[in-house]
Amino acid sequence: MNSGVFYVIFVNLMIDLHTHSLFSDGVLVPAELVRRAMVKGYEAIAITDHADSSNIDFIIPRIVRAAEELSGLMPITVIPGIELTHVPPESIKKLVKEARKLGAKLVVVHGESPVEPVAEGTNRAAIVAGVDILAHPGLITAQDASLAARKGVFLEITARAGHSLTNGHVARAALKAGARLVLDTDAHEPEDLIDDLFAEKVLSGAGLDVKERAAAFRNSREIVNRILGG
Ligand SMILES: [Zn+2]
Ligand SMILES: [Zn+2]
Repeated sequence: MNSGVFYVIFVNLMIDLHTHSLFSDGVLVPAELVRRAMVKGYEAIAITDHADSSNIDFIIPRIVRAAEELSGLMPITVIPGIELTHVPPESIKKLVKEARKLGAKLVVVHGESPVEPVAEGTNRAAIVAGVDILAHPGLITAQDASLAARKGVFLEITARAGHSLTNGHVARAALKAGARLVLDTDAHEPEDLIDDLFAEKVLSGAGLDVKERAAAFRNSREIVNRILGG
């Protein structure tokens, strides 16, 4: 006999706003990255290759072109972005401006990950510059998390090994400060793309409860809608 219990299943289609193609150190051309993301069940993906002042004007127009073509032909939203990486903090503001001018719809900064010698002050400079997402911000300070909250900069929980060592700290600092979180993969290879169930695991592992996990998914969707809305 039917137990009379109804289960409501919320499906969170994957939105991943931090990935790499072979325009930096990813292994796939944008077309294959997007195709594989679509097959994995993604709703939207941002391609955010590593850039500094040497290659920013080379990468962005090419990703913009690919994103426009692929978005038009496939049932997945492709967002052209960039990840400013190991750029001196003093140069971040200028490069964020240049990235947007070149057509990047999403600007990510490679934050102070615990596993790389990212220059101290990078987290602060990225937040002050008003980037969209501060990626893997490592042991972000309470002060910077509060500034991110005030500036509307999203802090990233990452599925990437190494960078993810400080996910728990990032989650706690963000919740305490009222900063908003997003989950990204920072995928470089096809195996790095994840489904929504694994995304839930990563967010749970960072200490987020069910409501906080749902908020992270909503935040990613809000960013996409904001971009699509122009
Ligand atoms: Zn990064
Ligand atoms: Zn990255």
